[in-house]
Amino acid sequence: MTVMAHAAAGVVAAYMIQRATHQPFHLGIAGLAALLSGLPDLDLLWGWWHRRRTGGEGHNPHHALWTHTPLFWVIWGGILAWGFHLPLGLVVALALVHLVLDSIGTDDGIMWLWPWRRQQYALWPRDLHAAGARGLAFYRRYYRQPLLLAIEGVLLVIAFIILGTEIIRPF
Ligand SMILES: [Zn+2]
Repeated sequence: MTVMAHAAAGVVAAYMIQRATHQPFHLGIAGLAALLSGLPDLDLLWGWWHRRRTGGEGHNPHHALWTHTPLFWVIWGGILAWGFHLPLGLVVALALVHLVLDSIGTDDGIMWLWPWRRQQYALWPRDLHAAGARGLAFYRRYYRQPLLLAIEGVLLVIAFIILGTEIIRPF
């Protein structure tokens, strides 16, 4: 999924978690959720560096890193929550939602069983980086996939409805 889908899913998930646990939801939480749900992709930087160093082509290999696994995010999410005094469940859940989205429609998927297995799992895998498609060419191929377009569109619409009601409510 794209960074927009990750941010939108973060807002939707945070809203559901806050409501389910009778905690407040406001635009600050929404912003934090959008940020936290994109955090696992910081390892893209390593992927770019690695690709440049090795002169490799093709897509960024960051989904094959241990930094994109549930076990890592349960531990690292716990440390972040403790260090920044954030709700543990929210931080870990947002990272796991990120990994779920990275398992849908991608061409490689996520190592859900790491460190026991290094196999990457993906639902409805799509070879969108085939023929070296990157940047705009990649996104053109991505948005021509009805399933991915539908999932991303639904997430964005729900996130905007939630944000809209939270903005309008105080007035
Ligand atoms: Zn990711």
